[in-house]
Amino acid sequence: MPINWDTTSDGDAMGEELIELMRELYPLPRSLTGDGVRQTLAVLGRDLPLEIVEVPSGEVVFDWEVPREWTMRGGWIEGPDGTRVVDFADSTLHVLGYSTPVEATLSLDALREHVFTHPSDPELVPYRTSYWEERWGFCMSRSRLESLAPGDYHVVIDSTLADGSLTYGEMRIPGTSDAEFLLSTYVCHPALANDNLSGVVLLWALARALLQQELVYTYRLVWGPGTLGPLCWLARNRETLDRVQHGLAISCAGDPGPLRYKRSRRGDREVDRAATLVLRDRAGSLVSGWSPLGGDERQYCSPGFDLPVGTFSRTPHGLFPEYHSSADNLELVTAAALGDSFRAALEIVDVVETNGSYRNRSPYGEPRLGKRGLYQSVPDGTYPEAPLLWVLSLSDGSHDLLAIAERSGLPYRAIREAAATLQVHGLLERAP
Ligand code: ZN
Repeated sequence: MPINWDTTSDGDAMGEELIELMRELYPLPRSLTGDGVRQTLAVLGRDLPLEIVEVPSGEVVFDWEVPREWTMRGGWIEGPDGTRVVDFADSTLHVLGYSTPVEATLSLDALREHVFTHPSDPELVPYRTSYWEERWGFCMSRSRLESLAPGDYHVVIDSTLADGSLTYGEMRIPGTSDAEFLLSTYVCHPALANDNLSGVVLLWALARALLQQELVYTYRLVWGPGTLGPLCWLARNRETLDRVQHGLAISCAGDPGPLRYKRSRRGDREVDRAATLVLRDRAGSLVSGWSPLGGDERQYCSPGFDLPVGTFSRTPHGLFPEYHSSADNLELVTAAALGDSFRAALEIVDVVETNGSYRNRSPYGEPRLGKRGLYQSVPDGTYPEAPLLWVLSLSDGSHDLLAIAERSGLPYRAIREAAATLQVHGLLERAP
């Protein structure tokens, strides 16, 4: 069904609401596993009927294994004069993700072995993790590290790595059909705004909007830790994956850069065409072909699954200088960009919800539109009838509405509305 825009917040108001939600989620200690993810999902679940899935440590998921759960209670470095050099309480970025516990006193040179700094900007704190190799460490700015005086440093990381589980959240919004539209984002980054939280809140906004709509497709929404979250979801839904007809992996959706769409592995699926068309009519937007580098689409599009999942973002991973650092903070994202991402994603939904092929019921010559009140009685050369004429011309059962919008250069909505008008007048019928 077409999106009923009256039931959705307009893009700007939604953008402001999303910034507020990000502010609340920002300090939570998200990681691949642990309570930060659960707390994040609990916040989202205040407004949504989320189902929380726990996958036990040690469970084998395709070529992977769910790791032990990381619980982080606190961590800091105390200098020779007793002042704290960095503290996890100030920023969750300061402790290397998945650090093993430690309490030790060591020299500055020995401490340096455990400190990570940003490769190019001396003022930024990097975001670093060590999921698959046991170690402990801290992250700080290079300028802070270089300012440290020689002496004894006391380090504390109060963490636990123990059997537990990996957590993801999911939600199902039923449509009239069992065919599914998968919307997915990752939820494992700590205090980073564009790379992660923007996708988390955008998916929350889409969920709320879709709950208000009459839908053809059944929507599956997944918030899981990167890579392993989608793999766990794929493993648990393996028997019904053939229902997934369209999908979007959402990431980095809040910076003011242009919208970007990366095609699915096959590149020519309906969602690829729908997204390309929506972005065609948004100045400055970019569409790129498939690449196996990126986010969760790598799992959904792996050849064994080959799902029709494209990647919806603004400036993606690695292409903005603030990427994986303390500068990817709430100042990097804007309400306008989030609102624009929200509207564009819903427009893609609108296209696939309404796309279809039709047949012109009066194909021998052009039907006389004037006698049906569909043609200007005094033509002024502006051709407001153009969408009607394009739909009539190409509706031979082999062009869907998307193809007509692609070929005519006209907006999809104009084509969809023209098709509806022609159906009312008995000039068009749905192709079998
Ligand atoms: Zn990232």
